[in-house]
Amino acid sequence: MLEFDLISKYFTWDSKNKSVLLSVGDDCAVLEIAKDFQFATSIDTLIAGVHFSDNTSAKDIAYKALAVNLSDLAAMGALPKFYTLAITMPDINSKWLADFSSSLREISAEFNIDLVGGDTTKGALSITISIFGWVEKGMALTRSGAKIGDDIYVSNTIGDAAFALSFLNNIRKKPIDRLNRPTPRVGLGRNLLGIASSCIDISDGLEQDLSHILKSSKVGAIINLEKIPLSKCVKDYVYSNNDWSLVINGGDDYELCFTVPSDKKDLIKDIVSTCDINISKIGVINADEKLTIIGNTTNIGKSYQHF
Ligand code: ADP
Ligand code: MG
Repeated sequence: MLEFDLISKYFTWDSKNKSVLLSVGDDCAVLEIAKDFQFATSIDTLIAGVHFSDNTSAKDIAYKALAVNLSDLAAMGALPKFYTLAITMPDINSKWLADFSSSLREISAEFNIDLVGGDTTKGALSITISIFGWVEKGMALTRSGAKIGDDIYVSNTIGDAAFALSFLNNIRKKPIDRLNRPTPRVGLGRNLLGIASSCIDISDGLEQDLSHILKSSKVGAIINLEKIPLSKCVKDYVYSNNDWSLVINGGDDYELCFTVPSDKKDLIKDIVSTCDINISKIGVINADEKLTIIGNTTNIGKSYQHF
């Protein structure tokens, strides 16, 4: 199959998005941005053997590749709009490509986002997605706005993806979908605009990602391990093994960690019901220069390091 046939078969879809003036097929995509909005853009690469294991399905790889990018926009409170895809693969495997393409289409439809271009090359399997969204001018949620006294919250439960990864081969009932198909919290991010003072998505571990907020905001924090929301399987494991490292250092959950001034805390309840998601307060921002963790920290180590 020729490169161009492959692109037209697997990566060319109709778009109803009026902002897409020109999509896959020309030298560039041409996109319109709405008045009073600013572009937010991010890029993430998934490499076989590094970011997913060799037996991960094409469907899960496609889902995760877009989900992790959507999560970056979610963390900024931006509305996802377009993305480009650079795919490198060792050969043309029609079944693999059909699965990858159909899964990518599904998640694209779910989040109302369009594939508008890309690049296709031969080599070791690797997927890079560059995503574009927009956010109301001056409103983007950043890492730098946390203030002393703000409460610290996380969405849903923490540690599931790391739990699934640690026990990939030896526990039958593990939250594998939390690892392979993380849910980008786009709706939550949008609802936090004007409410959260800072926000980040948890990709490398709660301790490390919260520390990014602290560093950018030039503040400290105290969090309590017992307040971190855990799913049943993670809770059972953590309490019976006295091992909080999965929760504190484990990445890949793609939940949001954010701060909210205490005079806005009543608004959280509305967000919980609008977004149909649990939100838990895990600590407070203070004037220290560090992150203090209360609880059994014996087994806590370092969060994910890329190098
Ligand atoms: P060029 O040589 O001008 O860079 P290409 O031959 O690489 O263009 O790609 C032709 C068209 O197909 C372009 O519009 C490009 O954005 C698009 N494209 C290439 N690969 C992909 C892909 N994997 N997914 C989506 N669009 C793609
Ligand atoms: Mg090219």
